[in-house]
Amino acid sequence: SDTPPKPQDPVKPPSSPPLPRQNAKVTPPSPPKIITDKSHSVEFVRVGMLGEGGFARVYEVKDSRNNRSACKVVTKSSLKTKKAKTKLYAEIKIHRSLDHPNIVRFQECFEDDENVYMTLELCHNGSLMDMLRRRRRFTEPESRFFMVQLIGACHYMHTHQVIHRDLKLGNIFLDRNMNVKVGDFGLAALIENPGERKKTICGTPNYIAPEVLFDTANGHSFEVDTWSIGVILYTLVIGRPPFQTKDVKAIYKRIRDNEYEFPADRIVSRAVQELVQQTLTPDPQQRPTLHEIVDHEWFTRGIVPGYIPTTAHDGAPDWK
Ligand code: ADP
Repeated sequence: SDTPPKPQDPVKPPSSPPLPRQNAKVTPPSPPKIITDKSHSVEFVRVGMLGEGGFARVYEVKDSRNNRSACKVVTKSSLKTKKAKTKLYAEIKIHRSLDHPNIVRFQECFEDDENVYMTLELCHNGSLMDMLRRRRRFTEPESRFFMVQLIGACHYMHTHQVIHRDLKLGNIFLDRNMNVKVGDFGLAALIENPGERKKTICGTPNYIAPEVLFDTANGHSFEVDTWSIGVILYTLVIGRPPFQTKDVKAIYKRIRDNEYEFPADRIVSRAVQELVQQTLTPDPQQRPTLHEIVDHEWFTRGIVPGYIPTTAHDGAPDWK
């Protein structure tokens, strides 16, 4: 029962049922060593690979002044359908509209004959998922630090009519100072009319809110991110997601039944257990607001560190 969380593929909208993809991926040719943004007359040198997502590869690049960025590369051959193009344009439109210290900054977007490139703020310290694997779980003060920044970013998105819909440890990056940077707007949605509801089943199994799966007639809205925030909080302090089990169907059943527990051998505060329980309220209308979450005594009566030292990658910081 002590296995660290495994990364899960997000459930992608395209008509298929919500199951992880099984098709083998063909590796597209690498982008050029020197990537040129013709419209801005800027050249980037590819210096390393940072990671690979559902449809993009992400490289570390540097410009002529040695400024480093992340460069997300999508091959045009993967954009043959109108649906795929619409999705990428939506991601770009939403991501470039956001400007917040805890959201990965979108720098530029350009293309050549083979690829579409997006340059992004570089997050030197990887994702919270990578860090949790090494640490197994975080102390409550560290978790408060990450949660305050995550909730700040989420509140900003919501006031700008954006639902992220795929908040999870693998999409929460850390900059060189260990500050949170929310990234990957590939499943984000813009609410263009007040009261509008979204109906696409998407997210990542462990983090999906019950209304996305079980209230498809009514649809869902901003509260799905609040649910994911509850899942993230539990995962940070316990070390694995609350509804995790062997197969996706069983995860969905546990989400439907709101079935999770705090393992008896993990000493976590009563306050954090209560906050998780409130946040994982099945009815989205009854779920606390982001303001109510940060007003909970777990935040207001606990220590929030001013920063996290990079030594926290390998062991709990000793706050002296
Ligand atoms: P996808 O949308 O295809 O899932 P992501 O945006 O999640 O792609 O990126 C895939 C991987 O690339 C991430 O898991 C991470 O390892 C790396 N990555 C993405 N953005 C950055 C960034 N700004 N800085 C550093 N690494 C990044």
